[in-house]
Amino acid sequence: MEYIPIECKSAIRKVRGGMPYQHDVNIYRGCEHGCLYCYALYSHDYLEDNQFYNHIYYKENIIEVLEKEITKPSWKKQIVNFGSVSDSYQPCEKDLKLMREVLKLFIKYQNPINISTKSTLILRDLDLINELSQIAFVNITCTVTCADETIQKIIEPHAATSLERMKVLQIIKQKTNASVGILMMPIIPYITDSYENMEAIYKLAHQIHLDYVVPGTMYLRGKTKPYFLNSIRQYDENLYWKLKGLYPKGSCLKEYKIEIFNRLNQIRKTYNLDNKILKDNDKMR
Ligand code: SF4
Repeated sequence: MEYIPIECKSAIRKVRGGMPYQHDVNIYRGCEHGCLYCYALYSHDYLEDNQFYNHIYYKENIIEVLEKEITKPSWKKQIVNFGSVSDSYQPCEKDLKLMREVLKLFIKYQNPINISTKSTLILRDLDLINELSQIAFVNITCTVTCADETIQKIIEPHAATSLERMKVLQIIKQKTNASVGILMMPIIPYITDSYENMEAIYKLAHQIHLDYVVPGTMYLRGKTKPYFLNSIRQYDENLYWKLKGLYPKGSCLKEYKIEIFNRLNQIRKTYNLDNKILKDNDKMR
């Protein structure tokens, strides 16, 4: 594993709609978690580096640049998402502590935040997450795709286990004022799409009183497609061909999607969990 410091000129990036935030910051480029379906592999192309999982770039001046941007008169304290193309709490964050400084900065300016992670390291910053959640909107999500640990370790080899992530969410829900939920995405055809698997995730989310579960089927775009399919092929040749047929393009066939969402609708009726991330004004006091 190689960690490479870089300087950034800007921190906040404007993102397209569909999520309850339009602004995004990545303090890291590349991600050690190694998910086979990682949609962010393309993001290393800009660095002319194809070692997405092994070359981790970190923006050592991120706090300074971010502070300049969120104190501009034009900045209206919009929600900033952390980590669309990398996990902000991947292993190197343990020593670098950049997220800890980000949270202190957001407390100073009472700026709302959204953090998605597959790491238990986020609990290190529970005190700051709690403090910020008392004065601004905070939303914390973990991706949970698979209740079966053996399969989960294959598809997300270096991330925390699904149970560990659930525990993280439970603690944050209990000890802070943050909105907390699960991104059940990607639902991987023939691997994590069974009624039993999806129901187990909803059931646990319901038991620990999470605010929402947002499901979504898998997309295979750009270099993610050959990487994912070839990784699966090493385990199961038949599954490789089935998946290849289901994904003539980046999205799975429409008939499959309809079937999955019918399955999900049945589960949702039982557990009555919201299926969208709460908007800030749903939660602010
Ligand atoms: S945690 Fe996210 S960014 Fe990191 S490898 Fe997995 S999918 Fe990619």
